[in-house]
Amino acid sequence: MGTIFSQIVDGDIPARIVYEDETTVAFLDANPLAPGHTLVIPKEEYEQLNDVPDDVASDLYAVIHELVPIVEDSVDADASTVAFNNGEAAGQEVPHVHCHIVPRFEGDGGGPIHAVAGDRPDLSDGELDEIAETIESRA
Ligand code: 5GP
Repeated sequence: MGTIFSQIVDGDIPARIVYEDETTVAFLDANPLAPGHTLVIPKEEYEQLNDVPDDVASDLYAVIHELVPIVEDSVDADASTVAFNNGEAAGQEVPHVHCHIVPRFEGDGGGPIHAVAGDRPDLSDGELDEIAETIESRA
């Protein structure tokens, strides 16, 4: 048996599906953080973004790009937070990659994406240079 999201893709458990094509599905989150909280997933089961093949990643992003303004407009949101919990240590509970589109409203009491991490590190210029060089050399 696959993840709970694969069971939604297969129609084995119900969901409020708002978009579907050959590779991608979007449906309302069962425990929404805001009205219109939508999850966008590849139909195939990949645990993390790091596992998603290039072509599937392109399809996934194209659907996110299309849906964000539609979701916002549908619930009269002022903005949205669009994010992946990418891995267990980042809070990912369902091991099937999914993008959260969370509509945001002026004064909703929520925070920015900067609020998700723990204590900020105190990095020296040398450490920052080294990190940047490592990432650049692998990109
Ligand atoms: P994660 O913490 O893995 O990034 O988020 C998983 C999300 O999936 C949660 O926001 C949770 O509410 C949602 N979720 C978990 N199980 C179900 C389900 O069976 N149906 C739907 N529609 N959403 C689910």
